[in-house]
Amino acid sequence: YLDRLRRTEPLIRSFVHVADEEAVMRQAAEIDGRVERGEEVGELAGVLVGVKDNICTADMPSTGGSRILEGYRPAFDATAIGRLRERGAIIVGKTNLDEFGMGSSTEASGFQVTANPWDTSRVPGGSSGGSASAVSARQCMVSLGSDTGGSVRQPASFCGVVGMKPTYGRVSRFGLMAYASSLDVIGCFSSSVTDTAILLRAISGYDRFDATSSNHEVPDYASQLVSVDHFESKPLKGLRVGMICETLGDGVDIGVVSSIQAASVHLEELGCTVTEVSMPSFSLGLPAYYILATSESSSNLSRYDGVRYGNQVAADEINSLYGDSRANGFGPEVKMRILMGTYALSAGYYDAYYKRAQQVRTLVRKSFKAALEQNDILISPAAPTPAYKIGEKTNDPLAMYAGDTMTVNVNLAGLPALVVPCGVVEGGPAGLPVGLQMIGAAFDEAKLLNVGHIFE
Ligand code: GLN
Repeated sequence: YLDRLRRTEPLIRSFVHVADEEAVMRQAAEIDGRVERGEEVGELAGVLVGVKDNICTADMPSTGGSRILEGYRPAFDATAIGRLRERGAIIVGKTNLDEFGMGSSTEASGFQVTANPWDTSRVPGGSSGGSASAVSARQCMVSLGSDTGGSVRQPASFCGVVGMKPTYGRVSRFGLMAYASSLDVIGCFSSSVTDTAILLRAISGYDRFDATSSNHEVPDYASQLVSVDHFESKPLKGLRVGMICETLGDGVDIGVVSSIQAASVHLEELGCTVTEVSMPSFSLGLPAYYILATSESSSNLSRYDGVRYGNQVAADEINSLYGDSRANGFGPEVKMRILMGTYALSAGYYDAYYKRAQQVRTLVRKSFKAALEQNDILISPAAPTPAYKIGEKTNDPLAMYAGDTMTVNVNLAGLPALVVPCGVVEGGPAGLPVGLQMIGAAFDEAKLLNVGHIFE
């Protein structure tokens, strides 16, 4: 893995920081020694994990993709990182992202642009683009990302890997740099659903450092996967699948639509009944999301004041110290979002924007509830298009935001969703992957993993 990382990294640029090779080899040797002595090792012993750089690691810099945190080293590990280390995982490096998770292509990173391993002239998706490209290029075995509005699922789709966005509260957010706290969740990337099941269990569960983390029991997802060796002819017999018809209409790439339709035929062959389900409020989710996410972020990002964290610009008076440090440290996308969020929350506009967006959020939640009463899972594309060219959307923020239409509703409702590769469409030297999004009821990750495992 380290050899491949070294060889491919100049082309892909997944990592903003790579662990010291000697340190990695030392950890691996220590695990080997324990195995030889017959001592117990954790279920992730020796597994090389890439970690999105908005998740705090005490032994490596953690920048959130922002110049304002360049060189910052947290004093602690995020809870999810601690859990990985306890189980023997080795953190191989910190992966690139859109600054503080704000973006859909990883081009809004303060440091570098990451390439899609399928076609290096294209984006890997975002904001967890580096975590997706790293697994896709086999630079590490699995990786962690975060998903506020699709940042695990859309890059998984663009890079042809498995991506899991858990239920809100399933994984502790302690040590995850906050973007929009009511939507953020840590998720995982891997090259198979089985690996996802193992990784998800390792990082899930209640944490006293995150008041929104859930104490719902964490099942042993991997041992509950139905064995593929003993396939009946219809292993998913009786499973009701709802295909969200609003996600297959105008503006969706024709190759994406046909891949999803082929996936639905495959699900029927496996025994599912697939019916169309209509969710009329679906298109309202995108504007509501961008109001809520920017509002929350304008508040969350006030902590970067040049005093408590990261880079400080020298000034002779405190207001210019704050102002100059922020002006200097934040990139243009982040500044735009702070302005939008502050505007939406300001006294004269609160009712027109923030309050209405919260009402839409309730509507979206109810319509998912109704759809999941009729169906065991819902399906849709993970993104309306396959990976696009680097630079194609950087001057058109609305076009970039529109690419999140398939994923943001799931965060508004706090539900879990799994993305599995389901087809390859034309474009690039080897075609471009398409991901199928499967959405489940809250805390029913086990069902999604089972369906995904049998489907893949
Ligand atoms: N692309 C969306 C945004 O820019 C989602 C990002 C995310 O999930 N972190 O807000």
